[in-house]
Amino acid sequence: MSGKLWIVGLGPGDAAMQTPQATAALAQATDLVGYFPYVDRVPQKPGQVRHASDNREELDRARLALTLAAQGRAVAVVSSGDAGVFAMASAVFEAIDKGEPAWRALDVEVVAGISAMFAAAARLGAFLGHDFCAISLSDNLKPWPLVLRRLRAAAEAGLVMALYNPLSRARPWHLAEAFGVLREILPPAAPVVFATAVSRPDEKIDIVELAAADPARADMRTLVMVGSAATRLIARPGQRPWVYTPRFAEEASS
Ligand code: SAH
Repeated sequence: MSGKLWIVGLGPGDAAMQTPQATAALAQATDLVGYFPYVDRVPQKPGQVRHASDNREELDRARLALTLAAQGRAVAVVSSGDAGVFAMASAVFEAIDKGEPAWRALDVEVVAGISAMFAAAARLGAFLGHDFCAISLSDNLKPWPLVLRRLRAAAEAGLVMALYNPLSRARPWHLAEAFGVLREILPPAAPVVFATAVSRPDEKIDIVELAAADPARADMRTLVMVGSAATRLIARPGQRPWVYTPRFAEEASS
């Protein structure tokens, strides 16, 4: 029996935002591998083995999945959102790149998911409607000064930003420092969105101006989105405004 490895993005939380392709892969898997809150989102299936881990060692998890697949198992590695966005897909390919030569012959399939930035942007209107970037504020895998440099470059380039992993208990000051850098470049009224637990029952979305953005509003389930000078609000009676970034951009607004 030859093994199989799916790398599956489960979407932002709501089961309706998981693709049918992801659901089909999960139904065929003999083994599930992932961080336990994500494995917990997959309905239990008799006979399917669940390797849920609570550590954050993604490379170990990737090696476990590859080892099982090499033994002939049909393994699904699960991530939230899209597996290729600050998640398990790159960990698996790092493991293949540096690991057993036999792993290169494995049948690996990456199943796309709806990333938090797409779910949040859809709730708002068209926040990512023009050029944008995604930056993780975690400094687990890159130095913090590099994060600040990328934020500065993105603001100077007029890009809308989706900021993942905005803070943790170990580094609560990161988001405050990030806002500090952005305030040096962007207009004080640039829209900032705190989108927490998007598509889940406790979803909370707040729109503020950069000058008033309070880093304490964010937690690890929050995506922080920062508009460019071009990003606009459309007021609506009794409802949250639409927020969108128009398709046209002028040199002066960058
Ligand atoms: N692969 C995931 C991202 C994993 S990094 C994706 O594509 O969405 C984890 C970070 O993603 C969190 O710190 C948060 O910034 C963001 N995130 C994940 N799910 C979210 C949700 N439902 N609502 C808001 N942000 C979310």
